[in-house]
Amino acid sequence: MGDSALEKARLVDKKIAGGKAGKLAGMIVAVKDILAIRDVRTTCGSKILETFHSPYSATVVERLEKEDALIVGKTNMDEFGMGSSNENSAFGPVKNPFDPERIPGGSSGGSAAAVASECAMTALGSDTGGSVRQPAAHCGVLGLRPTYGRVSRYGLIAFASSLDQVGIFSQNAEDCASVLEAISGFDERDSTSVNCEVPSFSSDLGMDVRGLRVGLPSEYFQSGLQADIQVKINELCEMLEQNGASIQKISLPLTDYGIAAYYLICTAEASSNLARFDGVRYGSRIDTKEDLKHMYCETRSRGFGEEVKRRIMLGTYVLSAGYYDAYYRKAQKVRTLIRKEYDEAFGRCDMILGPTTPTTAFRLGEKINDPMEMYLSDIYTVTAPLAGLPAISIPAGKDTNGMPIGIQLTAPAFQEGLLLKLTEYIQLHMESHDL
Ligand code: GLN
Repeated sequence: MGDSALEKARLVDKKIAGGKAGKLAGMIVAVKDILAIRDVRTTCGSKILETFHSPYSATVVERLEKEDALIVGKTNMDEFGMGSSNENSAFGPVKNPFDPERIPGGSSGGSAAAVASECAMTALGSDTGGSVRQPAAHCGVLGLRPTYGRVSRYGLIAFASSLDQVGIFSQNAEDCASVLEAISGFDERDSTSVNCEVPSFSSDLGMDVRGLRVGLPSEYFQSGLQADIQVKINELCEMLEQNGASIQKISLPLTDYGIAAYYLICTAEASSNLARFDGVRYGSRIDTKEDLKHMYCETRSRGFGEEVKRRIMLGTYVLSAGYYDAYYRKAQKVRTLIRKEYDEAFGRCDMILGPTTPTTAFRLGEKINDPMEMYLSDIYTVTAPLAGLPAISIPAGKDTNGMPIGIQLTAPAFQEGLLLKLTEYIQLHMESHDL
């Protein structure tokens, strides 16, 4: 991809000279390997797609190219987006740029690390239950998950279709806003994309927080939250209050059920979505001398990693007759209640503030043999996707080990503009207040 990016850069230089360049001219972008780029290898972090070259590009990739962004490479990820540490990639883990002994977060760990280490100015990732916000928090960069329906998922390899959304990593609100503006909007090739106007996020930046009501859910601040993260949130709230915002104590009691509902729904959807990788239509095939079923079995057993197989089995189980009502249907009901709980909360505040993660980046290997522990690290990020809401993780200083802290803002549907405005405000003011 390097050569074609250089070639494109020369072309964009000419366009700039001629005054005809697109809005993202010269922006260096990395793309998570779950998004298709025409004629480029698209592995999804999986052995089963190791040799797969996509015959077409994702809509978001086409839109970036149209605005003259320079796509310089694909980034490593947890296989099919399943993971919180990037250790589930068939191609080895990504390391945290702040400490190579620690995880960068997942599943878009490569994109977060690429922006944090300045290999790229912005990067695309995907967020099903936190895969943009959580690695952004661990790598000290911004990570935005837009509203479900805001950005087309055509060309995004499906993990859990009712939750998957393309997200953006950047260093600042301005770059994030420009990329969001470019990739948003209706796409007839994604039936879930919403046909509504795309605001000019980048020119709308700039805000005064006077009168802004920021909600702090009490459930976010219980045992398990690392003390340094709590301290940063307190400092941030003080700063916002000093400048005229009001901090509202709110309650989101269903937060505790988020992990259970999310892992039931996403595994159910994954078990169905991943049925297409059978050695016939996509990727590699293990040819055996026996019958077709044996070929399917060998291809999938050897092509998928441990976590992917665990989720396919869990998902198949929760969808099976006899268990469907007890697990899958119940999880869907909880999902509706979570959505209602957010709706009510947004009657009392304009935005919700909290931690992105319970701790800063943990060590490589620390949780890999304990899937429950790994799943629990997603506690703060899974509920916004269940409700279809936009949310952003903002870097907010470091803990005592020098590891980045992330603070999360969640807004009502289609209010990414508000998220970006407050993000810009916080980034400017945290610096001047030395927070
Ligand atoms: N960590 C979560 C999971 O493993 C989220 C993944 C994602 O958003 N793709 O499912």
